[in-house]
Amino acid sequence: MQLSKIPRVRLASLPTPLEEMPNFCKKLGGPHVLIKRDDNTGLAFGGNKARKLEFLIADARMKGADTLITTGAVQSNHARMTVAAARRVGMRAVLVLQEIESEPGGCDGNLLLDFLMGADIRLVNPPSGKDPKARSQAMQKAMEGVASELRDSGHVPYIIPSGGSNPTGALGYANAVLELIAQANEVGVGVTHIVHASGGGGTQSGLLLGALALNTGIKVVGISVSSDRNYLSERITNIIQGSGRLLGIDLPPIGDNITVIDDYVPPGYGYLTSEVADAIRFVAETEGILLDPVYTGKAMYGMMDMIKNGYFAEDDTIVFFHTGGTPALFPYRGQLKLLLDEARKAHE
Ligand SMILES: *Cc1c(COP(=O)(O)O)cnc(C)c1O
Repeated sequence: MQLSKIPRVRLASLPTPLEEMPNFCKKLGGPHVLIKRDDNTGLAFGGNKARKLEFLIADARMKGADTLITTGAVQSNHARMTVAAARRVGMRAVLVLQEIESEPGGCDGNLLLDFLMGADIRLVNPPSGKDPKARSQAMQKAMEGVASELRDSGHVPYIIPSGGSNPTGALGYANAVLELIAQANEVGVGVTHIVHASGGGGTQSGLLLGALALNTGIKVVGISVSSDRNYLSERITNIIQGSGRLLGIDLPPIGDNITVIDDYVPPGYGYLTSEVADAIRFVAETEGILLDPVYTGKAMYGMMDMIKNGYFAEDDTIVFFHTGGTPALFPYRGQLKLLLDEARKAHE
């Protein structure tokens, strides 16, 4: 894997820590679980987008861009980190944001941070409904509108797709596998599984690409937070093939290696449930580690449930990637408090 030949701007604090979760494991039982702290990458409170942005911003620079355009929900972590990255390299950022029903409103969490960093924020309302393709096409069109407006006023815009989930961004997570293997070797840990929250598929694509290209035998388990298994697997296949082309490597057939778990998606993206709130509380109480309500809390609930249901063997070693998202805890404060108070009362 010739990752070092691909242009990259250093933006993240790497390597992120690989930490044991002794109290969590003792209380839960089952396999050995470690946590990879990609919530500590830096860039305005950290998260998985930092690794992708290192490659995306290098590409934007090569193309002479002065303004980044990206999209997401109002509480998008990707949007917040894109603004931070733009500011670090002296660029401007335009955010084309979508209000979604499940998310709490107000200038709070990620939106507050976007505002503080001086992002040009455009709220749009694409057709609602369940068709993710139609929605993403509408957002793409809105971004292209902004791009042509910027070009007319003499700027050079660069569009980053939702979540930075494209072949270039995914390279950041192929690199994360290299980083993880070095850390695991150092402490003599043999990793059997990586588990993480999967949204647009960029993270899972990069992790799987890295795991396959390095012949690690590690199984990458993506717990979907929004899409069904078929839709996400198809996206991942396309992204990996694109990344493979960028690296000039021949990949083994990918389809059979993609593991997307979509059992934990309901009731849908951004809806907080009592199970997810409880998983957030459990990790906070056992390890003092904070997860987020939209991605990592859901993935943690999924992983804990899969552990209880015997999906993993007792002698497996799982690395849970903490992909960030913690600023969203704050706008969800009301729901979190309510759900956890209810659970406490039910236990009394
Ligand atoms: C964006 C995001 C993800 C999902 O990453 P993808 O590469 O889009 O699958 C997971 N966790 C957090 C906190 C995120 O912000």
